[in-house]
Amino acid sequence: MSDRHDQYLEALGIPVWKLRVPPGATAPPLEAGAPLEVVGTQLVAGAAAAPAAMGWDELAATVRACTKCALHTTRTQTVFGVGRRNADLLVIGEAPGADKDRQGEPFVGRAGQLLNSMLRAIGLPRSEVYIANILKCRPPNNRDPQPDEARTCTPYLARQIALVNPRAILAVGRIAAQWLLQTDVPIGRLRGRVVPYGEAGTPLVITYHPAYLLRSPLAKAAAWTDLCLVKDLLRKPQ
Ligand code: URA
Repeated sequence: MSDRHDQYLEALGIPVWKLRVPPGATAPPLEAGAPLEVVGTQLVAGAAAAPAAMGWDELAATVRACTKCALHTTRTQTVFGVGRRNADLLVIGEAPGADKDRQGEPFVGRAGQLLNSMLRAIGLPRSEVYIANILKCRPPNNRDPQPDEARTCTPYLARQIALVNPRAILAVGRIAAQWLLQTDVPIGRLRGRVVPYGEAGTPLVITYHPAYLLRSPLAKAAAWTDLCLVKDLLRKPQ
């Protein structure tokens, strides 16, 4: 990001992380105790694989037919993503749960409703953003995605990020945040700041997963400050 951009964010009181990993390089994994600013922001190797050249329709069809990991044997259907394909904001979650597996749409159900309310609170109806997950298939029993599953699915997400080319990304939940940043730093230390993400340096904000907020309503105050960061980023002149 440019110095002017940084100055703008600083004027808004938004902390900015500096990218120390050269663009295009794969970020080394972060030690849990490592200083916060030492965070890589590249998707893992493989992100540049075949989908990199695909348009939306081909990408969606490729995901629909994907059998690259074992999750295809247990899914009802793939959950590609939903929303405005040229949205200013891209929301990235973890993986479809049971409802999404049945309905083929990310973030439906109670967590989805809370996500919708969170977005509405910053003036963004769900239809105005694009919503995708790290994994396009539901892990059985809603278990956490395994690294090999995330690695296999990442080229699809990388292409979605490139196609949407959003002004900001909101990663919801530990799994999405840690995978995108290739770190095991706890989410409580990742949230509350803006990280330039990927080669484009797209501003990335991390917040708690709405399913966690349903269980831990006291964390909603922190999530609200994260959403305000997103709102400020989107309000910034282009
Ligand atoms: N539903 C999704 O689509 N993604 C999540 O991360 C959680 C629920």
